Amino acid sequence: MIEPELTEQGYRSNDRLARDLDALTRMHALSTRQLGAHSLESLLEEIMHAAVAIVGAEMGTLQLIEGDTLRIVAHAGHQPPFLDFFRAAETRDSVCGAALKQGCRVVVEDVESSPLFAGSPSLPVLHAAGVRAVQSTPLFSRKGKMLGVLTTQWRTPHAPREPDLWRLDLLARQAADLIESSANSDLLRTSEEYLKLALEAAGMGTWDIDMLTERGHWSRRHFELLGYQPNPGNHASLHMWRSRVHPEDLEKVDLALRNAHATGQSYASEHRITRADNGEVRWIAEFGRYVRPSPGAAQHFIGISVDITQRIQSARTSLLLSAIVDSSDDAIISKNLDGVITSWNKSAERLFGYSAAEAIGQTVAALLIPADRQDEEPNILARLARGERVDHFETRRRRKDGTLLDISLTISPVKDDQGRIMGASKIARDITGRKRAEAQLRLSEERFRHLAEVGPQIIWLSGAEGELEFVNQRWVDYSGLDLEATKDPAQIASRLHPEDDVFAHWQRCVAAGKPFELEARLRGKDGQFRWFMMRSVPVRDERGNVQKWFGTSTDIHENKLLQLELKRANQDLEQFAYSASHDLQEPLRSVKIFSELLYSRYSDKVEGQASEFLANVREGAVRMEMLVRDLLTYTQTSKADKPAEPVDSNAAFQTALANLQGAVAETSATIHCDPLPWLPVNSTQLQQLFLNLIGNALKYHRPGVPPVVDVTVRQENRNWIFSVRDNGIGIEPEFQEKIFGLFKRLHTREEYSGTGIGLAICQRIIERHNGRIWVESQPGEGSTFYFMLPA
Ligand code: ADP
Repeated sequence: MIEPELTEQGYRSNDRLARDLDALTRMHALSTRQLGAHSLESLLEEIMHAAVAIVGAEMGTLQLIEGDTLRIVAHAGHQPPFLDFFRAAETRDSVCGAALKQGCRVVVEDVESSPLFAGSPSLPVLHAAGVRAVQSTPLFSRKGKMLGVLTTQWRTPHAPREPDLWRLDLLARQAADLIESSANSDLLRTSEEYLKLALEAAGMGTWDIDMLTERGHWSRRHFELLGYQPNPGNHASLHMWRSRVHPEDLEKVDLALRNAHATGQSYASEHRITRADNGEVRWIAEFGRYVRPSPGAAQHFIGISVDITQRIQSARTSLLLSAIVDSSDDAIISKNLDGVITSWNKSAERLFGYSAAEAIGQTVAALLIPADRQDEEPNILARLARGERVDHFETRRRRKDGTLLDISLTISPVKDDQGRIMGASKIARDITGRKRAEAQLRLSEERFRHLAEVGPQIIWLSGAEGELEFVNQRWVDYSGLDLEATKDPAQIASRLHPEDDVFAHWQRCVAAGKPFELEARLRGKDGQFRWFMMRSVPVRDERGNVQKWFGTSTDIHENKLLQLELKRANQDLEQFAYSASHDLQEPLRSVKIFSELLYSRYSDKVEGQASEFLANVREGAVRMEMLVRDLLTYTQTSKADKPAEPVDSNAAFQTALANLQGAVAETSATIHCDPLPWLPVNSTQLQQLFLNLIGNALKYHRPGVPPVVDVTVRQENRNWIFSVRDNGIGIEPEFQEKIFGLFKRLHTREEYSGTGIGLAICQRIIERHNGRIWVESQPGEGSTFYFMLPA
């Protein structure tokens, strides 16, 4: 079904068909009349009415040359006083006078602007007669004699179309023939044939059906439209026509037919047909009328048909297009080459505040362009006239309320089907928001730059890809390089220490979008390197895309030197402790062995205090051996390799336990252990860890209470957290941190043996693996040692 507005649009464009039908009906009536029964005048009157109808005019005259005067033989739509005026027209400034003088058709599209009437007294008369446009076509006999003039007049300015004038010529020819030969019916029939041929040539079909027999004739084009093969006599029937109407449209078509029949008015229909030959569905427009050639004769149904499939489709497309245009957020405006607005969509209304009715017909320059930008439009129009496009032209336009809008314009030339530039379509996008955001961004950036100059730090900004955009004065002062020089790879390279690998590290961070952090050396303009902590963090937009990198370099030179010195000193100390404990082992062993020997061989020979002294020497040697051993373990902790592969911590636990068998048996301890994970740690160190912690759990048990030790493990985030719980003596809160220090003990060796190095070793091992160790304890109830290792 056709949408209502589409149908309306269709009928409006079908004026042409309606007018042709009018002419056809008149000619049909004329050709079937007996000429003898009618005067020449009445026939010419029919022709004149047909002419007025065919060109869509409101008024008309047909005048014959009789001697020196022009006699009006037929007229339509005129009042008597004006007819007198036309009668004497050839002596005045008039269109028909001009046509007669020039011997050819004269068309005046608008009498107001025609030079023919400029300053002429005829103009007020035409005004009064309501004539705004005129055409006059001379009538010539077959021998070339001028017989008269056929004039049509319009109430509004009008430019008759070529096909209208062509049909008009046919009528003029016919009128002239009538006048010349005093007419005969054959000639009239020929005239009707002429008209049918003209319609045929314009792609229109015609039909004429006797409603009594329901049979008649179609033009060849009508056969073609419905998909039939024409037959020699062009015979057709009402049934042939009706059977082609699309079933869904049949009811509507029948209704239109019944209406036309009942009211005597035109039948007009746009509907689908199914072609007889290939079943293709097409749209067709039909205009018809029931006529009775003479009183008492059978009724005929005559009419015109035209295929409108393409028009329907393009109307649909244009409906769709206009829906798109209207729903666009951008203002879409078209204008002609004079800059006059010819269309204006809803967003244009929203954006500029003018309704379509207010905007159309105004020039863009007058309506929208602010005074200080008036020179833009001539330039744009000139570019359009050359067929150029204007792309993303950022400018300002004025709204109806006088406020200014920042907009981005894209203007492209519009061409007619001949490729001539007729105007332009223009898309205006509101970029006020964007401009404001840009200004805002600049302002923050400005604030940032201001702040950047205040602090002691070197500050830089880079774009999303890491390209440098800003460096603060502090950097310029330090390095002697300004922004441009810093961007130069060779120059910046000369300010970086070759060992620090700053570039590669920076590029990796930019590629991964991860914060950059590096301690590196920067060379000042004095040629000296200083240590800086370089950091840069990505700044992201709301969608998470990196917009900028904000970077700082903080001078940590003094600290770094201290740190390096400390590290070196520590290394020296460790080296010393290692070699001292290592080298001490040898003489210590001698002391121990010889004191043992002395004791075993001479203990019965020495007396009193001497024996006590000897025992002290022995004990001291044993104790010193323990200390030296533990110290050696401690110093060696940082030397051990880290494994490439994870190791089984169950195995480490079992080895530690095996080493503790004596203590377990001695204390009647119970030890429980969860299944433990595989971990990327040094297995010897893991054994050491279990050995020290479980060893302590056994050692620090409450007197008379056999130790119960529980080893568990759980995973938290990406870490393993081990716990070694005992039911021992516990640790006072104030000592819970201290006990991890070297040589820190809470008891005398008389109470509990030990060196105070065990937990310090544990702490070292854990720190080497980037973990953490701590204790939770209730004095008198037991302690739980926790250590965390990354999985
Ligand atoms: P050592 O055991 O050789 O004295 P450690 O470094 O292993 O040295 O321990 C330091 C101190 O921490 C111990 O002297 C002891 O006072 C306390 N401690 C360690 N483990 C425990 C425990 N399981 N229960 C109570 N106290 C403990």
